[in-house]
Amino acid sequence: MSSPIASRVLDSTSEAGYDATEKLILAGGASKLEYPGVNYCQGCGDRLGSKVVEGQERPHCASCRSTVFMDPKVAVVVLVSMDGGIVLIRRAIEPALGGWSFPAGYVDRGEVVEEAAAREVIEETGLTVKVSGLVDLISFAGETVILAVYAAEVIGGALTAGSDSTEVRVFDPDELPALAFPHDIEIVARWRNWTGRSLTAQEPL
Ligand SMILES: [Zn+2]
Repeated sequence: MSSPIASRVLDSTSEAGYDATEKLILAGGASKLEYPGVNYCQGCGDRLGSKVVEGQERPHCASCRSTVFMDPKVAVVVLVSMDGGIVLIRRAIEPALGGWSFPAGYVDRGEVVEEAAAREVIEETGLTVKVSGLVDLISFAGETVILAVYAAEVIGGALTAGSDSTEVRVFDPDELPALAFPHDIEIVARWRNWTGRSLTAQEPL
């Protein structure tokens, strides 16, 4: 027996109002989350089955009667202001190899999220930054990753392509190249909105 293959599709009718939202949908149309690579119990090593627990089918080990609750992953996305523009990297890794996007990456367990943001920026751009604020926290139905979008300002370093990038450049926010991910335009829009609010908030009453 082979299980249906999950495929990533674009859903342009998201209730959240995003331009495009990725969902996991099973071949055949039934909506269900799949957990590729989660096959064995971390406690006893037996093969995992599945069981409906708290209203959702989840990986389950019959031997130790334990259920695997799949946590989300937190990723940081950083909009770095520099010379009146924002810093973008050309990605050297999949997904979206060769596409332009923001410095971004996963937060390690135990890591302060703002420090993860600064770490990703220096790794991918060579720039030392000070995180100036949380622009937004963005999540999507059916998606594993929660995006913590930060704004940051440059306090040192020099623009240099790093481990995950082949090129780094500063772009005028009004003249951005085609961006790698469906969410990127929405992220820019929220950053613009946040920047406006932030400036307004700093004005004297
Ligand atoms: Zn087990």
